[in-house]
Amino acid sequence: CGICGVVGSHPAAPVIFEALRRLEYRGYDSAGIATLDDQGVIERRRAPGKLDNLGAVLDARPLSGTTGIGHTRWATHGAPNETNAHPHSTDRVSVVHNGIIENFEALRAELEDAGHVFVTDTDSETIARLADHYMARGMSPQDAAFATLQRLEGAYAVAMIFAGHEGLMIGARHGAPLAVGFGESEMFLGSDSLALAPLTRRIAYLDDGDWVVVTPEGATFFDQSGERVEREIRLTALIA
Ligand code: GLU
Repeated sequence: CGICGVVGSHPAAPVIFEALRRLEYRGYDSAGIATLDDQGVIERRRAPGKLDNLGAVLDARPLSGTTGIGHTRWATHGAPNETNAHPHSTDRVSVVHNGIIENFEALRAELEDAGHVFVTDTDSETIARLADHYMARGMSPQDAAFATLQRLEGAYAVAMIFAGHEGLMIGARHGAPLAVGFGESEMFLGSDSLALAPLTRRIAYLDDGDWVVVTPEGATFFDQSGERVEREIRLTALIA
């Protein structure tokens, strides 16, 4: 339901957690955050129920790292429990997703035939397994993300991070909103400008079908066909 992502120089988890607070108004049943630790390994914490539950988990077991994604989930496929909470991770990739992947059953069957083992009841896990599948075949994160997006049907906004690729985050928008926030050597993804409000005033919205490669230095936008496109950076009114 709500997405936030950060790449930069500050610890990511506290920034993401506060952004998830600002996304609470959308409603949710569980929440989670994944970061890359100092070895580039994907670590995550998730909890059903209110953000305070996730906060308690993070207090007990903090997440390090300056690259991370977070999510507040409003379940459409699979019970609102910890297992089904986002982010969904493999060894290679971690994904948060808003919306519904309409063709997830066909994709899941195809991936299971190829030997992938699913551990949740969500449509969203398909995105992570698909990207993992392409990366296992040698694709770069960017190529794997694009190949994955081309297979998805339905409405979605997604954010992904990749093991061993600190300072890299890929986002996509297809029927659900996503915005890029521009900081100083720090970049953000968010479901809306409210999530990003105290972090930066400089925001670019993805057009429908767009995807974006985000690093601490900036963002490179692509359209649905993979062509590079420019998206205007706007100055939002300060809300916070
Ligand atoms: N369909 C996904 C799920 O049930 C995402 C729901 C959402 O937008 O939060 O996990």
